[in-house]
Amino acid sequence: MNSLAKIDPQKRQSGHLLTVKHVKNLTPNMLRVTLHCPSLTDMDSSRQGAHCKLLIPQPEISQEAFRQVISVKPSELSADQRPIRRTYTVRHFRKKNMEMDIDFVNHGDEGPASSWARHAIPGSFIGLLGPALPKIKEFYADWYLVAADMSALPLAAATIEAMPKDAKGVAIFEITTAADKQIFEAPESFEINWILHSNPHKPSISQLSFFKNLDWPKGIVQTCIAGESGLIKQLRHYLNTEKDLPKKDTYISGYWKIGLVEDEHRTWKNNESNLVR
Ligand SMILES: Cc1cc2nc3c(=O)[nH]c(=O)nc-3n(C[C@H](O)[C@H](O)[C@H](O)COP(=O)(O)OP(=O)(O)OC[C@H]3O[C@@H](n4cnc5c(N)ncnc54)[C@H](O)[C@@H]3O)c2cc1C
Repeated sequence: MNSLAKIDPQKRQSGHLLTVKHVKNLTPNMLRVTLHCPSLTDMDSSRQGAHCKLLIPQPEISQEAFRQVISVKPSELSADQRPIRRTYTVRHFRKKNMEMDIDFVNHGDEGPASSWARHAIPGSFIGLLGPALPKIKEFYADWYLVAADMSALPLAAATIEAMPKDAKGVAIFEITTAADKQIFEAPESFEINWILHSNPHKPSISQLSFFKNLDWPKGIVQTCIAGESGLIKQLRHYLNTEKDLPKKDTYISGYWKIGLVEDEHRTWKNNESNLVR
């Protein structure tokens, strides 16, 4: 590839190079990677809970070569130069130290992102595009419904932490083992429930059953729901047919799908949304 200086400005993208400060096993099936991100100068903690695109470095690539790769639009790169992209959530951002935490479900070495996190050590590097804006920008509901599996726990926890202190609502979290429970701040009147589903590769309908048994309140309900797409499809159907929530109050999104890698999942989601149009 050309050196940076020779790249036409039109062909550049602003991928940020992040380096690993430390990695810890947050819980048995979740890795927390703390990244140094000195170029994210416009960022602040209001982006906690927002998603970003991670650009996974190719094996053996040097940091300098990778810095060049992520500064160029993918269309300018050959297929083997293009880094794999995966979608993750900013769990914490600490401006003082220009540090970001990203929590990765540890689902083995099959997925490039999970594998990268499992093998990351201080000094490892990764690219980042974004972050976007947070999913829920305003909290105005009488009652909140939050549901997540482990992939969406970073979103759910950041969202609950950002809620007004007097917010009321219910959260249901599906985790792999009892030790995958996480502690985070929640409004005093917020009810948090944890259910176990030991094999995430097998479909589960526990969250759907939980929804069906909820004592549904009067007033405005806002939702923050994400997780495995097969289940999300059923939860969305239930909310659309039984609860008729306005679209603007409803965040519900498939974050991954059993048996599909992220790019296949995105295609599946596009096909699904074309079907309902
Ligand atoms: C907006 C958004 C935000 C997200 N934020 C986070 C986040 O903060 N943390 C996080 O861990 N995930 C998050 N995800 C989900 C993450 O993007 C997917 O899990 C992604 O597929 C992981 O990439 P991979 O390279 O590890 O696996 P892929 O290469 O995409 O998949 C390899 C295999 O692993 C399976 N797989 C993928 N994800 C999981 C999983 N969670 N559990 C079990 N098996 C899985 C796939 O079905 C496939 O068989 C988010 C997704 C979206 C859309």
